[in-house]
Amino acid sequence: MSFTLHGLPTSGGIAIGQAHLISQATLEVSHLVIAPRKVEKEVARFESALVNVRTEFEAMKNGMENSPADMHAFIDLHRMILDDPELSETPKQIIRERRCNAEWAIVQQMEVLVEQFERIDDVYLRERSYDVRQAVERVVRELAGHAASRLKGIKGERLIVVGHDLSPADVMAFRNQNFASFVTDVGGATSHTAILARGMGIPAVLGLHHARQLIRDGETLIVDGTRGVVIVNPDQRILDEYELRKAQLELEHSKLKLLKTAQATTLDKIRIDMLANIEGPNDVDTVIECGADGVGLFRTEFLYLGRGDMPSEDEQFEAYRKTVKGMEGRPIVIRTFDLGNDKELHVDEAHSDRRRENPALGLRSVRLALAEPKAFLAQLRAILRASKYGKVKVMVPMFSHAFQVDQTLALLEQAKSSLRGEKLAFDENIEIGGMIEVPAAALAVGMFLRRLDFLSIGTNDLIQYTLAINRADEQVANLYDPLHPAVLMLLSHVIDSAEKAGVPVSMCGEMAGDPNFTRLLLGLGLRQFSMFPARIPAVKQRVKQSDISGIEPIARRITRLEESVKIVEQVERLNALQQ
Ligand code: PEP
Ligand code: MG
Repeated sequence: MSFTLHGLPTSGGIAIGQAHLISQATLEVSHLVIAPRKVEKEVARFESALVNVRTEFEAMKNGMENSPADMHAFIDLHRMILDDPELSETPKQIIRERRCNAEWAIVQQMEVLVEQFERIDDVYLRERSYDVRQAVERVVRELAGHAASRLKGIKGERLIVVGHDLSPADVMAFRNQNFASFVTDVGGATSHTAILARGMGIPAVLGLHHARQLIRDGETLIVDGTRGVVIVNPDQRILDEYELRKAQLELEHSKLKLLKTAQATTLDKIRIDMLANIEGPNDVDTVIECGADGVGLFRTEFLYLGRGDMPSEDEQFEAYRKTVKGMEGRPIVIRTFDLGNDKELHVDEAHSDRRRENPALGLRSVRLALAEPKAFLAQLRAILRASKYGKVKVMVPMFSHAFQVDQTLALLEQAKSSLRGEKLAFDENIEIGGMIEVPAAALAVGMFLRRLDFLSIGTNDLIQYTLAINRADEQVANLYDPLHPAVLMLLSHVIDSAEKAGVPVSMCGEMAGDPNFTRLLLGLGLRQFSMFPARIPAVKQRVKQSDISGIEPIARRITRLEESVKIVEQVERLNALQQ
């Protein structure tokens, strides 16, 4: 019988193949009582399982040429999770106190930790609970005597792995086998498994809830990673249709690859900057691979997330320097930490109480940075020190008030003068920019244009705040609308004002990486687009097929429309225009 499952569109593309179910050891653990004289033996069994998993991780890292850049970091993170006394020591205590088997002890402790993660407001941090589960899964598998995941027994057909959850290490283990895609019951769009799938270009759908129960081994599956759909046992007509779409996508993909070295110039010869959004030095290879002109957004908070404590000035400096050097002279915009007040930074209790009520409106981003000037200063010093090695610009998220810019500029001066005192070199003329993410900042953009060297529009937050839609809440996701007339009014006001003031403005929210919006944004006057690196070829292609002089009047008219339906219709027409 054919049926369709809907999940999270995690990594785009289409895969067709045979289902291969893998079991989840942590879900199958039983509770056993251990005789008192055998308790220490059980503790030793636990310890040796940990040692074996660590050795397995090391072996994986050594055999990782040609792996996505993030892979090392993901494996290290899982190793660090297992090294934490909460998982390496507490289970031993549980074994001794409750006289239970090692598997049970570590799963009990895992549940405690996962619950703590799940209470965190920030989506990214909350999704780190998957990493805890995945790291523990490996230990439980090791205890059960089957460490590595293997795809066995099915020859010829491309395999689609169906699991309750998969760790990045599992994905790597499958990589050299006949593996086309994977689908899982749990997992979020920003889980490391999702990031890895996108990095490897493997179609994947996560968050399917009951895929492992509903799909049987060997069934034919179509995975549409772009739409987040899995079709089980499709009939011949659907299969033919998807085979065709898959072939078209592959053709499109190979054509886009040829664009890598091409410049993003419009038909009327206007040069557009194609910049990349990155999360750390490991992304640099991908950025260059995708033909980016530079980095338009380095989300530095990722240096902090996943390790749980603040990287020191020197650690930050190393990460920035490595990125700058890797970019070989291309410009890099380093954004200062965009952390919420749930992300530790030693915020006092009064602050943390408030944030629980409404974190998006709380002490986050530049507000938190200015409340913690020591940490902010350390970051500014690290960025300045890295500016010695290339074209570095500093950018600050979420400005809403002019005094925040003034205070930031004063801290930047302080950072510069302390470096001068220590005779440490840096770029004296480093440019400083701000993100326009709050409607107030978009409306009163003049006060930011007067104070800053450049602006970058963060549409993810700007849309969230303009439409009062929590961007992480799937219940209101349907209201998240980049083409809402109010959003377009703000965008066009910011771009026009920046142009008049002669201040460069870029866009680094998701909107910049969606080729469906490229022409509209070009028509509104945007000349710098920063996006997830894999999106660059498609947006570049759209730029190369556009004539701005023809688009401009249509884009202007669109911003004057007051009905969303009409706007959508006109944007579609704009995209279909043969130029
Ligand atoms: C944005 O808000 O558009 C943005 C680029 O910042 P982030 O997604 O990191 O909040
Ligand atoms: Mg933002």
